[in-house]
Amino acid sequence: MPFTTHNVNGLVYDTADGLYAVGGTHHAFTTRLGGVSPAPFDSLNFFERNGDTAENVLENYRLLGEAAGLPMSRAVGNRQVHGDLVRRVRAEDAGKLLWDERPHDADALLTDVPNLPLVAYSADCCTILLHDPTCRCVGAVHAGWKGTALGVALKAVVAMMSVYGADPTTIRAALGPSIGACCFETDRDVPDAIRAELSESADAYIAARGSGKYRVDLRQINRLWLLRGGLDPRHIEVHPDCTMCHPERYWSHRRLGARRGGQIAVIALEEP
Ligand SMILES: [Zn+2]
Repeated sequence: MPFTTHNVNGLVYDTADGLYAVGGTHHAFTTRLGGVSPAPFDSLNFFERNGDTAENVLENYRLLGEAAGLPMSRAVGNRQVHGDLVRRVRAEDAGKLLWDERPHDADALLTDVPNLPLVAYSADCCTILLHDPTCRCVGAVHAGWKGTALGVALKAVVAMMSVYGADPTTIRAALGPSIGACCFETDRDVPDAIRAELSESADAYIAARGSGKYRVDLRQINRLWLLRGGLDPRHIEVHPDCTMCHPERYWSHRRLGARRGGQIAVIALEEP
């Protein structure tokens, strides 16, 4: 199991062992366990637009920061748009976390500023954390099926290379819990969009189910994009859990509908 579960006073989050071992960052993939939000957002919820209060959500960020050693009062979120835009986050963006103050409409955030946690939100979608320990930069990526088809993971890697001089052979990547191929049943539009970009290399991760339905493995397709970017397969970790199979541990849009909480993947560079 390349991931480790942490339980700090009931707040439960996972870390990727390889990302942790290389050092230089703090990171976390959250669950729904250990926050202060009441039902139906119980209890570790990071979405304030579905009906939970900003006070509860900010307290959940604070508790996560305490538990995981992340300076969450400085964390930065984005307004995710299911696209492939990658944005550079700067020191002046620190603390922009709630929807109306998030500085970027984007699905991938990058920075080389220490102590500036980058947040990717999800409730079934893939999240991808990136770290190049050589040039010291990090990224947080949200990839639903549209972003997965568009290759937002590869675009984040390419931007790390062009903006910060990252070397793909030294980049570490970890993909968080998301809806798995066991549960992600789609119409033909999803495999068509993915094959339009990746052609037959994606076929191993798309299964026809009859009656025009398909099962798609979004995490493995994002892994494929990272390999195309030149990452070493030994440096890519993929969380095994399906969010829809485990509603007791994760938020799942497909399982719970729109009135529910959401989890985050977050990463911050340490001071050198
Ligand atoms: Zn499942």
